[in-house]
Amino acid sequence: MNEKLKTREFHIYGLVQGVGFRPFVAFLAKKHALGGWVRNAGGIVTVRVTGEEGALVSFAQDVQKQAPAGSRITKLTQSELPIEKFGGFRIEKSSMEEEGASVIPPDLPLCEDCKKELYDPADRRFKNPFISCVACGPRYSIMDALPYDRQRTAMDAFVMCGACALEYRAGGRRDFAQTISCNGCGPQLIFKDKETKLIKEAAFEKAVRVLKSGGVLAIKGIGGYHFACSPFNANAVRRLRELKQRDKKPFAVMFKSAKEIGKYCGVLPAEEELLRSAPRPIVLLPCSGEGLAPEVCAESRYLGAFLPYTPLQELLMDALGPLVMTSANSTDQPILKDDADVLAIRSGFLDGVLYNTRRINVRQDDPVMRVAAGKKQVIRRGRGMVPLPVLLPVCTEKTVFAAGSDMKAAFCLLAGDRAYMSQHLGDMENADAFDNYRENARHMQNLLSVRLETAACDLHPDYFSTRYAQSLGLPVIRVQHHHAHIASVCAEHGIMEDVIGVAFDGTGYGEDGAVWGGEFLVCREGGYERAAHLEYLPIAGGDRAAKDAKLCALSYGIAAKKDDPSGDGRMGVVRAAARSGAAQVSSSMGRLFDAVSALLGVKEVNSFEGECAIALENLAWRALEAGTDPYPLRFELREADGMIFAGQVKLAGEVMDAAREGADKSAVALGFHRAAARMVKEVCCLLREQTGIRIAALSGGVFANRLLLEDVIARLEKSGFDVYVNEQVPMNDGGTALGQAFIAAIKNGSKGK
Ligand SMILES: [Zn+2]
Ligand SMILES: [Zn+2]
Repeated sequence: MNEKLKTREFHIYGLVQGVGFRPFVAFLAKKHALGGWVRNAGGIVTVRVTGEEGALVSFAQDVQKQAPAGSRITKLTQSELPIEKFGGFRIEKSSMEEEGASVIPPDLPLCEDCKKELYDPADRRFKNPFISCVACGPRYSIMDALPYDRQRTAMDAFVMCGACALEYRAGGRRDFAQTISCNGCGPQLIFKDKETKLIKEAAFEKAVRVLKSGGVLAIKGIGGYHFACSPFNANAVRRLRELKQRDKKPFAVMFKSAKEIGKYCGVLPAEEELLRSAPRPIVLLPCSGEGLAPEVCAESRYLGAFLPYTPLQELLMDALGPLVMTSANSTDQPILKDDADVLAIRSGFLDGVLYNTRRINVRQDDPVMRVAAGKKQVIRRGRGMVPLPVLLPVCTEKTVFAAGSDMKAAFCLLAGDRAYMSQHLGDMENADAFDNYRENARHMQNLLSVRLETAACDLHPDYFSTRYAQSLGLPVIRVQHHHAHIASVCAEHGIMEDVIGVAFDGTGYGEDGAVWGGEFLVCREGGYERAAHLEYLPIAGGDRAAKDAKLCALSYGIAAKKDDPSGDGRMGVVRAAARSGAAQVSSSMGRLFDAVSALLGVKEVNSFEGECAIALENLAWRALEAGTDPYPLRFELREADGMIFAGQVKLAGEVMDAAREGADKSAVALGFHRAAARMVKEVCCLLREQTGIRIAALSGGVFANRLLLEDVIARLEKSGFDVYVNEQVPMNDGGTALGQAFIAAIKNGSKGK
């Protein structure tokens, strides 16, 4: 049947510029035999096409379904126009193009087309470790300024050869591809060790030989350097740990394919999707560690696995198979990005450096993600995610700089309805991390051309981030830590309704100066009311108690009126501190997890954040997997003066009794998790009776605990709640800046869209 021709105009909103969107649209138009044009206009892509109804419908579907990696369509509108005849399809250059894209693209992984060329001996970019096109390659990490063109990127140092210059203007996949280069021009590989300096193929081959023979290398990537070694060679992994000065934290491993990962880890379809997604994140997968050197996973139940995203990594995977690839830094220092700094490392544990002379402007670690309760969650924001905006349900009247928190620092710039979250910037107590934070804040502000009008920050008076926000000379909006956590969930899910927020973490500054961290907040219209929390108890030792779980457990022992649960004789000192008022009052769920871990003798020191809680969770999983019944424990709830208190002291006392009686530790660990999940459900139900609110938002670092999170979500959903958790920003302190920005926007008088 010969249908009548129609002309239709599509407007495509979202992240659609700088990611190869127009060539993709042109490809689809040709596939569906449509005439017309595509062009960038402001922040959107406009397409006008003429064709048969069926073709127009399939075209629109394909645009949404097959959009290039790195793009994100937030809205597609279409309108009918008077019939217009076109002789073919063309990509139009628009005047807006010179003004630059309003969305800055993140770094993009090697695309399938470039991958094909990489392995094609007839291609002039055969085995080129820097092959890229309009749909792939570094972006944010090499940008100096906007508009995005070669002169304003790290590519300015490389002069295009004649062939590349022709391709740059020839239409197709490398038309205006700012990172264009080939084997003849552009960055070249260099290998350097104490004795030798090699380039190109020789550099690559040498690196492969060193890694094969159990060596440790620094390899330059997109957001910084990696330290790399074979995950099968225990000695190499131990040397890498010495180099990083990292004892326990598991290392991430890069694999050639998802199939390869499947040999070591369970990979569900949603997890495979994540592995292949544009940021190529490190995905936390359950792993027995079998087949790998035991030093890789250390004591973790999960392996951080990821796929190659640069052509160089692709070639390395091909030549070597899996590699440990961990950020090149010492613990707590920012990832190394400058060649001079890496070449200056004088360590017997580093056997060479594989690099190139293209500079990295923006430091970014690899992002970390996982699937929990069927939801894809970001644990650490990094390369490939920044500066993709989170779209908010409000349009802010005034631009906002939100400073975030100190422990897992990340800031947020909010302009209009777009919240630009930074990458993970480390611990602000580290002077280099703080410098890096300031540098990144300035850089992103310049790139986005945002003039700041408001600052938002934590209530904590001594946070570096608070002081930084106050130094900007802007009106400052202070947001309570756990309120920011909950607001971050509402911001990313577009929730403007009232919610019951459950914020569990290690520490956050409370309105009353106490250490909060086991909080139930009823959140309304940019404000909140603290409706329930873990009962207070004094914890002696200050910051030391956050590291030394045994010390923390003593405070619980004293509060529960038990004999010294540690047996190391420190109880008297702690009791004196508690009596003298030197102890801090705490409602922290994180500290309770630490204490229970120490009381059971599971783990007594946090050599990294959350280590004790992770060990306790692992033990609970073991009970669950063995079908062991949970040891019966419960939080007793008490109501007074309109506040609900969850009794953590009595519960800790019962854990001590159980430990003393020699109960199965894994059963107690599981019983404790179950008790916490039940408590959340009971408190939320009580608050629903009081307020009528049926939406629950969960956030805070404690919910990195998957067993707890999944149990809580299941119980709440069964009780009729709509449950939301962080997905685009971390549930830990790395997500608080988004919540602060959202609250500031509402307080500034912004209204829902
Ligand atoms: Zn490509
Ligand atoms: Zn060239």
